[in-house]
Amino acid sequence: MKTITEPVKQTPVIAEADVVVAGGGPAGVGAALSAARAGAKTVLVERYGSLGGLWTTGLVNPLFDHANKGGIIRELIGKLAERQAWRDDPVRPGFLTCFDIEPMKLLLDELLEAAGVDVLLHSWIADAVLGGDGSEIRGIVVESKSGHGAVLAKVVIDCTGDGDVAARAGAPFEKGRPEDGLMQPQTLMFRLSNCRFLQQGPDHLYGLMQEAARQLGTEVPPFTHPWIIPLPTPGDAVAQLVHVYGMDATDARQLSEACRAARREAMQVAELFRHVPELSEARLVSTAEQLGVRETRRVMGEYVVSLDDLLEGRRHDDGICLVSFPVDIHPLFPGEDDRSKRPRIQPYHVPYRSLVPRQIDQLLTAGRCISGTHEAHASYRVTGNCTAMGEAAGLAAAWCAAEGIAPRQVDGTALRRELQARGTVVD
Ligand SMILES: Cc1cc2nc3c(=O)[nH]c(=O)nc-3n(C[C@H](O)[C@H](O)[C@H](O)COP(=O)(O)OP(=O)(O)OC[C@H]3O[C@@H](n4cnc5c(N)ncnc54)[C@H](O)[C@@H]3O)c2cc1C
Repeated sequence: MKTITEPVKQTPVIAEADVVVAGGGPAGVGAALSAARAGAKTVLVERYGSLGGLWTTGLVNPLFDHANKGGIIRELIGKLAERQAWRDDPVRPGFLTCFDIEPMKLLLDELLEAAGVDVLLHSWIADAVLGGDGSEIRGIVVESKSGHGAVLAKVVIDCTGDGDVAARAGAPFEKGRPEDGLMQPQTLMFRLSNCRFLQQGPDHLYGLMQEAARQLGTEVPPFTHPWIIPLPTPGDAVAQLVHVYGMDATDARQLSEACRAARREAMQVAELFRHVPELSEARLVSTAEQLGVRETRRVMGEYVVSLDDLLEGRRHDDGICLVSFPVDIHPLFPGEDDRSKRPRIQPYHVPYRSLVPRQIDQLLTAGRCISGTHEAHASYRVTGNCTAMGEAAGLAAAWCAAEGIAPRQVDGTALRRELQARGTVVD
């Protein structure tokens, strides 16, 4: 590849903190709230204009795997319910537990502000600042309308979903399934207004779409388990059915192509809905600001959560999050979908060690980029777990900053005990 040499430049330090949280999604908000509430001076850097990650800019609902957790996730649900912005599933209680998107954005703004987190929105993390021999992270480099700047911190928590910071720092990572690196498909969520449809099961909507397509002489999209998810506001719903296959979302060109393809398909589906009697009044009002990326980098840590852990329901002395969600690998090729082959798992722990990357000090991960295998990732990646992992990482980072130690030196058993004492870990 052709290259250029950039002139050496002085980078202004735009903030210095105990803890910098990279990314403001479900993991990042958990991490930032937890670190700040534990007394750490905390900065959160997010590339979009709102907090929430896939919850908000990705239009992802429902909030899965929250029932077995206290702490920040319970606090969020309680506050959303107070604002009439939370609703249980009217068809299958406990399954599609949903929230309204704008109240979620506002709530996250309010909570982070109240906790004293310095939130930098519209700021892209472009690089890692390394110290010494390159084995210790000292901060991140941010690009924004203000230009190029560094945010320095004693501990960096990578909550970018894609493990962008860890990758820039040189931490080892894996992508996709072991045999060929193929990753789960991406989905562009879209929002419907005037939608009163209550889906009765995974095949219900697909059957209706097939019937409409047959009458029109067109094709249905290949994903056979589409869902329309009703939100608390009557008539408001999000649809999860447009899939893009074989793309690597850490490659900007592939990501661009995936977004364009998904947008085309979303509009075709919305057109098809007009011919489904139960959906003929529903209208597509927006596609998500960001493509829903299920899987990219998994940053290899001191422990790698594996399928065996899930099958055996393995618990750990440093377990910081109990996961119950199944192994949900969306078909890697169009048309394939045999959910009967899903392994039967037992509730299991994510140990603190899987948040501690190998090789790079002063770095933690939380959310979908933690250390696990392709199969295990497909289970712990849902948002209730991401926030719980963030909460644990934030507390550990605050301890590191206060005591001048590395995340690798944190006593994971003591961390678990403290999270239990706070009612965050309830298993
Ligand atoms: C289509 C789809 C449907 C899903 N459905 C559900 C569901 O129904 N329920 C559920 O609980 N889970 C669901 N999931 C899984 C879940 O949404 C994700 O695994 C989860 O959001 C991961 O949380 P996170 O905080 O790790 O990452 P994200 O939610 O991706 O948040 C990462 C944040 O970091 C920011 N960021 C990333 N890179 C940078 C950078 N370089 N600079 C600055 N900021 C950056 C992003 O903008 C984002 O705000 C779904 C996932 C997908 C893709």
